[in-house]
Order: sequence, then C-alpha cells, then structure tokens
Amino acid sequence: MTQPEQPALSIVIPVFNEEENLAMLHGEIVQALKDFHYEILFVDDGSADKSFAVLTDIQKNSPNVRLIRFRRNFGQTAALSAGFKHARGAIIVPLDADGQNDPADIPRLVSKLREGFDIVSGWRKDRKDNAVTRTLPSRIANWFIGRITGVRLHDYGCTLKAYRAESLKPIRLYGEMHRFIPALARWGGESVAEMVVNHRPRTRGKTKYGLNRTFKVILDLITIKFLASFSTKPIYVFGGLGVLCFIGSFISGITVLAMKVFREYSMNRNPLLIVSLILMTTAVQFVLMGLLAEILVRTYHESQDRPIYIIDKIIESQPPAS
Ligand code: UDP
Ligand code: MG
Repeated sequence: MTQPEQPALSIVIPVFNEEENLAMLHGEIVQALKDFHYEILFVDDGSADKSFAVLTDIQKNSPNVRLIRFRRNFGQTAALSAGFKHARGAIIVPLDADGQNDPADIPRLVSKLREGFDIVSGWRKDRKDNAVTRTLPSRIANWFIGRITGVRLHDYGCTLKAYRAESLKPIRLYGEMHRFIPALARWGGESVAEMVVNHRPRTRGKTKYGLNRTFKVILDLITIKFLASFSTKPIYVFGGLGVLCFIGSFISGITVLAMKVFREYSMNRNPLLIVSLILMTTAVQFVLMGLLAEILVRTYHESQDRPIYIIDKIIESQPPAS
C-alpha cells in the first residue's frame, strides 16, 4: 500500500445538521486555498439531516476531502478532537461548518503561523451573533478566562485558528475545552498570536448553542485551572482547605468553651458548637479527599508514562574533537 502523501495543511470542520451550508463552504475553501497543498476533514457529529449525504457527494469530485462520521452526536469538542487526531497536515486549521468563519482568512493565519508561532488564534472583532445571548456573555467569559489563565486573548471561542500539528496533537480535550487550547498550549511553553478575522451572520441552519454554554465554559475553566496548577499536587489544594476548616473549627470550639466558663452560656444552646463540629468533619473530609486525589494523580501519570515536565531539548555530551 502506498503511503498517502502528506498535505501541508489540514482543514478540520465539525458538522452537525448543516446540510444547507456545506456545498457553499466547500466552494469557498477551494477558492481560498488555490495555492496550497491541503486536505479537508469533515467530521459529521451524528447529524440527523442530509449533511452526510451532501458530504459524500462533495467527496466524489474532490480527492482531497476526507470524511469521519460519528455514531451519534458527541459535541463540537469531540468532533474537533477526532479531526485533529486524523489530520495529516503539518498545519491544522479548524473552521465552523455554518459559514460564519470566512475561509478567505486562512492564508493570512497560515502566513502568520509561519512567522514562527505555534498557534494563531482568530478574533471575531466584529461578531455577527445575537448580542444578548452570545456576544455579551462571550465578552465576559473571555475577560474572565484571560484573568484566570493569564493568557489574554480577545476571543477564545472563535473556532478559526491555525495550529502547528505538533503543538496541537498532544493536547487532550474534554467537555467544551477546545476553546482553551491556546491557554493550555501557552502553559506548555508554546507561542500564541492573535489575528482579527472576518465573521459573518449565520444565513442558514440554526445555532446549536445558547446561554447555557457559558456555564459549561466556566466549569471547564475551573477544571483546567485546577489541573494546570495542582494536577501533580492535589493535596496542596484539598489539604489547604482542610487546614482552613480545622482552624475555623478550633476557633469556634474555643469560643463555645470560653462562653461556657466565663459567661455561663450553655454549650448545647450555642450554635457555634454545631459550626465547630461541622467544620471539623469537613476538615477531615478534605484531607482524605486530598490523599485520594494524590493516589489518582500518581496512577494517571504513571499508567500513561506521563512526566510532570515538558523537555524542550536535550544536548548530550559530545565526543571530543580529534
Ligand atoms: N457542532 C458540532 N456538534 C455539536 C454542535 C455544533 O459539530 O454538537 C458544529 C456546528 O455544526 C458548527 C460548529 O460546531 O460547525 C459551531 O456551531 P454553531 O454555529 O452552532 O455555534 P456558534 O457559531 O453559534 O458558536
Ligand atoms: Mg456558528
């Protein structure tokens, strides 16, 4: 069997019920990437409409189109993740299937990446989505994500980004986490740039998201922050909380005793007694949870042979010149 030729560029497109948008999008990509050697990977995320039939049609006349079809709907992050895994290009560019991202931006993103960045992230500066349910929450979320991760980007949520395959492939994605790739990558020592991209209103099909995505994003944010800061030392977090609870318990316990001795205030009528007991129980729980988490972390790292560091390069000792 001949090895398939490696394209320079892989376009990855998650598709969920986008039958009316696909043909036009494909046409635009072909137009925009005339000068590139590229492949397009459509990942059909369990569409219930004719999307997959449309995609097989497109593929008949386009040798550089590859299709992945999920058994059911697993979500945009899963679709992107599958696309990234199977992409063969040295540069990977994901893109929404609904035509809101403009394929004409791809060459600019790629040349920026070639200037020496590991990730170039699109910024939908003039975003064409519902202001109340989408644009405003996304602004707040971006500000918040920037503060917490320390990686300030204007638009984490933009699907259109360009990645070097080797910086993208090691990153594992869960939940709604594809938007955090730039933060995860920068933590791993990669360089990230941002570039304004065009954004267009959705003309056909329906948006798959509403306000509730914002909550998922916040929960994911807590998760990655925790993993990034403490994944190798969870006892520091849980143990720290345990110590705080213990101190609280100690103070209220002493207060109860003092009130009994000096004020003759009955202990069993004093609500601080209950506070003290609850805090003591919680303190023990936190410490035990921390120990459990330590065991889990060790299993995680050792079972996958994952080191707790990332080496840039190693320079071995050189044989003396003779
Ligand atoms: N999408 C997907 N699986 C899902 C939801 C969405 O693959 O469960 C795809 C969808 O087809 C589109 C992209 O993810 O290509 C972004 O979806 P949408 O346009 O609804 O999001 P928005 O642009 O409103 O953020
Ligand atoms: Mg969209």
